[in-house]
Amino acid sequence: MFNQIKVNTSTSAAYHYNVGTDLLDVVCDFISDEIGSAKVFLIIDKNVHHHHIEKINTAFESRFERIVTYVVPPGEKSKSFEQFSSIVEFVLNQGVERTTPLVAIGGGVIGDLAGFVAASVMRGIPLIQVPTSLLAMVDSSIGGKTGINHSTGKNLIGAFYQPKAVFADLNFLDTLPEKEWVNGLSEIIKYGMIESPIILKQLQRLISENGFTNPVQWQPIVEQSAQIKVDIVSRDVNEQGVRAYLNFGHTYAHVIERLGEYSNYSHGEAVFAGMYGAVSASNKLGASIDLNELDHFKSLYNFKLDAIADHRDEFLSLMRKDKKAKNQQIRLVLLKKLGDPFVEEVGELDLIKASWEDVIHHFS
Ligand code: ADP
Ligand code: ZN
Repeated sequence: MFNQIKVNTSTSAAYHYNVGTDLLDVVCDFISDEIGSAKVFLIIDKNVHHHHIEKINTAFESRFERIVTYVVPPGEKSKSFEQFSSIVEFVLNQGVERTTPLVAIGGGVIGDLAGFVAASVMRGIPLIQVPTSLLAMVDSSIGGKTGINHSTGKNLIGAFYQPKAVFADLNFLDTLPEKEWVNGLSEIIKYGMIESPIILKQLQRLISENGFTNPVQWQPIVEQSAQIKVDIVSRDVNEQGVRAYLNFGHTYAHVIERLGEYSNYSHGEAVFAGMYGAVSASNKLGASIDLNELDHFKSLYNFKLDAIADHRDEFLSLMRKDKKAKNQQIRLVLLKKLGDPFVEEVGELDLIKASWEDVIHHFS
């Protein structure tokens, strides 16, 4: 059983985001029918390979003459020039034609890295995204961003490159560690805050009834989240207007990640804390959003921000350096009310400072 969401793009053909269970045969059907290659490249995260390679092989071996697999070490460190170069080298040496598909199977790291390889080899070979983490299913596999990190910053080298299809198979989540569930949760909460508050209620119920033990039950939430991201990025493929809403909580989050040297806090933790900042700033500008909306989820997170409080004098200058900032002004995504976002250049620095104090207070 699976559902499809159509993704329109301005630069390449529309494609489908598919979400459901037991999708590997559907992935193989799609490649055979739509791409028609006898050979496929599978670029797989090492942890996903460990848990799921048997069923992956079973599905692909019955359909393709040559399956060429490359296993990528897990973690953000793999979004490197070295890893990129090593996969490109591998793909070229194994023999590739313009129509040989590359299937990226893993979390956001694999999607970004393998996606950039697919964008680069022969100026672009067909890319199929099979996201296996909650974060990748609801966020990074949608929108066509691919790329790697540089020593001077994250995602500084890359390209917009749309896949031929995305297949979010919830069965992969059976083996996802709890901290990775929580990492993806923050983006879902974000969608609830900016677009669809009902998701927040559904999430609360789902988690209180099942925790993170029953991935199949997550289909409606994953689907709604994907739909929200699809709607926003289809309206704004190159990031001018509404796509900024996806940055809710992220201007704060990027500061937290940076001060934590990209290792003390996960992206999801930083975004969760960052949303307290955005809500606080919104309320100081006249909204009246109940912080309970976030507090309901707080016990799932297990981190403190005491360490970064010592760096409070750097908060504003780091916000000004955010890559989404313009002319060094601090641009925040704020809420008029739940589900009603807007973007504002906030010049009242005391207000932003006070919002940071609220963030720290909540996580000390
Ligand atoms: P993201 O959070 O952007 O998806 P990663 O690609 O680094 O980031 O994935 C997060 C972690 O989860 C990695 O350690 C990866 O190996 C692991 N992982 C991803 N999918 C699964 C899965 N289905 N089962 C077990 N571990 C997984
Ligand atoms: Zn994010």
